[in-house]
Amino acid sequence: MSEIHDVIIIGSGPAGYTAAIYAARANLRPVIFEGALDSGGALMNTTEVENYPGFSEGIDGPDLMIEMRKQAERFGAQLITDDVTAVDLTGEIKIVKDSDDTEYRAKAVILAMGSGYRRLGLPSEDRLSGRGVSWCATCDGAFFRDKPIAVIGGGDSAMEEATFLSRFGSSVVVVHRRDELRASKIMADRALRDPKISFAWNSTVKSINGDTSVQSITLTDTVTGQDRDVEVNGVFIAIGHDPRSQLVAGQVHLDAEGYVLVDGRGTATNLPGVFACGDLVDHTYRQAITAAGSGCSAALDAERYLQALE
Ligand code: FAD
Repeated sequence: MSEIHDVIIIGSGPAGYTAAIYAARANLRPVIFEGALDSGGALMNTTEVENYPGFSEGIDGPDLMIEMRKQAERFGAQLITDDVTAVDLTGEIKIVKDSDDTEYRAKAVILAMGSGYRRLGLPSEDRLSGRGVSWCATCDGAFFRDKPIAVIGGGDSAMEEATFLSRFGSSVVVVHRRDELRASKIMADRALRDPKISFAWNSTVKSINGDTSVQSITLTDTVTGQDRDVEVNGVFIAIGHDPRSQLVAGQVHLDAEGYVLVDGRGTATNLPGVFACGDLVDHTYRQAITAAGSGCSAALDAERYLQALE
């Protein structure tokens, strides 16, 4: 039988590494599964992060994550760069399996698998990510001061992004594949009233254009089939998120959109000894600092749970 660890953490974004730092400093010797391909989480795919406190000149996303990783390691977290492929979280001892089917056991588990932004699926989208293509207006809006911007989507988050971005951009065009918005009336009205915001109805994005940064987008009219180019320097994609909760579905309670449900302001799930944090639980804020904050809460909740077991 394998050793029983105090805490296993699944996920290595700001939430997972922060949970690891706190758990390690509490002498819980956490094991953290970082993921096989995308360890470090969402910020590994961006350039400058300007809003993480403590870095007055900003810091590159990967550099920030390398520092968090080192900090977790320094206090004794055991880092495993592999995916967790199966879990049984229902018993008092939790079972976690890696990609070789090796079994790890722990008294508590912290879930920090994050969520993925939905993509348009265009090759140019990946190439120009962080070079004009973004999924986060709060993070990147300020880079597009006095520049023309496009927001892709027709729901509440697209309207929120468009209204927020109209503070910075010279203009904002909302690209929506239908002729009416899915957004709630209050959010839609706010965007429709904003003089800086215009709408490209019945339009899909065919390509995002530019060599080293975004220069324009090509839109296809879904009614006429005609293409047209629109000059923009920022493209904000707001077509939804998919929390990475498949691993725990059927064991941990999820909401209708697949986010892990936690107890009020805490991080406890429906299963004793299982805690969740970061974008995996968060519909609303989705920032590195909020993910890190809830990772801290999850480690403290796990520590209290383990203390109560003694
Ligand atoms: P993530 O960072 O998504 O990390 C989750 C991790 O879990 C990943 O490493 C993944 O590999 C791992 N994982 C998932 N499943 C498994 C499994 N089964 N086994 C093992 N590991 C697993 N926020 C800001 O505050 N400022 C910014 O400037 C900013 N810029 C951004 C730019 C981009 C391009 C993107 C995509 C996001 C940006 N954000 C920014 C948002 C921020 O990155 C997220 O809010 C934050 O990373 C969420 O942290 P997390 O730890 O919850 O999840």
